Amino acid sequence: MTGKARLSRRRLLAYTASGLALSSLGGCDDTPPPGRYTQADIDLLDNQRSLEAQQRGKGPYGDQRYEGYRGLATLPWFEIDNTGRLICIDDSLPGIVDVHAHLGMSILFKPELDLQAVTPRVRHLLDCDGADPPCELDLDVYINGNFSPEALKQNEKVLTTQGLWGNEVVRSHTIPNLIAEMDTMRVQHSFVLPIKLGLPFGDNISEQWRSAISRADAADRITTGCSVHPRDDYRVEELRLHAAKGARLVKLHPTVQKFYPDDSSLNPLYEEAQRLGMVVFFHGGRAGIEPASSQPFAVPRHYARVLEDFPRLQVILGHAGARDSAAMVDLAVKHQNAWIGIHGQGVSSLEAIINKTGGERLLFGTDWPWYHLGATLAKVLITTDTPERSAVRDAILRNNAVELFPELAERENLG
Ligand SMILES: [Zn+2]
Repeated sequence: MTGKARLSRRRLLAYTASGLALSSLGGCDDTPPPGRYTQADIDLLDNQRSLEAQQRGKGPYGDQRYEGYRGLATLPWFEIDNTGRLICIDDSLPGIVDVHAHLGMSILFKPELDLQAVTPRVRHLLDCDGADPPCELDLDVYINGNFSPEALKQNEKVLTTQGLWGNEVVRSHTIPNLIAEMDTMRVQHSFVLPIKLGLPFGDNISEQWRSAISRADAADRITTGCSVHPRDDYRVEELRLHAAKGARLVKLHPTVQKFYPDDSSLNPLYEEAQRLGMVVFFHGGRAGIEPASSQPFAVPRHYARVLEDFPRLQVILGHAGARDSAAMVDLAVKHQNAWIGIHGQGVSSLEAIINKTGGERLLFGTDWPWYHLGATLAKVLITTDTPERSAVRDAILRNNAVELFPELAERENLG
């Protein structure tokens, strides 16, 4: 294996769409500088996990376990249609905007993944409905807590081969499949987020997705963000090129791309994004299943300086900080340019976030194809099911996203 190929494989193994452990990485070059990662940080994550285990099902919404995604049909807003699919039947909902989804990736080898394919069923990475009996879906824990250790191992395999040569799971993560699921869940528009791995011979997922969406004539339903690598020499120029092609959102992933968000070497990138009016979407906080060596990068205080130093830069903090949501939401509340992607939080946690923010700057996100769109939708509907919360519901599902991306409304007016 050549040095280049070895490097690419290492980086590839580091890939995750939402922080899944592909544990072969690590090593001494990841030792955090003093103060970056303390025993208190480590303890906080451990405490979050044990508290969650103790309190699951005992929050304001009680027990929230369902028999797979299709089990959500026991809730008043969903049904199973005559083809056996979960559908959302509440026609009072606004046209939902999902700011956090992905498509399948094929990076290294041909043939490229066919993003135009229609397959009989979406194989979500948490494939609850693919098992018989379906896996238990608990909406009162951080969502990756629904993976069994065996399922996590299996996904490690899936994601490794996803980049290398594709597989039947990833082959279902296509544009028509996403749109079909959006239609069943009343999602009007989705942003898909590529992640640049910084492979030595170039990974051009942003470009691949942009052209696939245009070939599918799906720009009215799906917008792709772009991604650059924080250590790429041409990152600023690349960002400019993406912006020139219409990109409005750039995804940066501290644990996959292994950087501290407040590293001063990123200042020119943030400055340029601010100048271009681009939104930065950070993977936020520790998911708890990434390699331990990557966890220091995502501690909430490392995001603070970006929010302070670039006050006109709009920043989405993905997963509401994941298992670090308490600190991440406190940080977001203090900064008018911070938006909170709610994907992943359980209903008790989402309740706390709504109480802290009043619903302001909260954004709906699903992390498809990791999970069915209905999982996050159900959580929003459960936590906003009172007349007093109806404005909060509309804000989370749509209005906040339109405030951040006004072109969504303009496009509809034209259409
Ligand atoms: Zn994601």
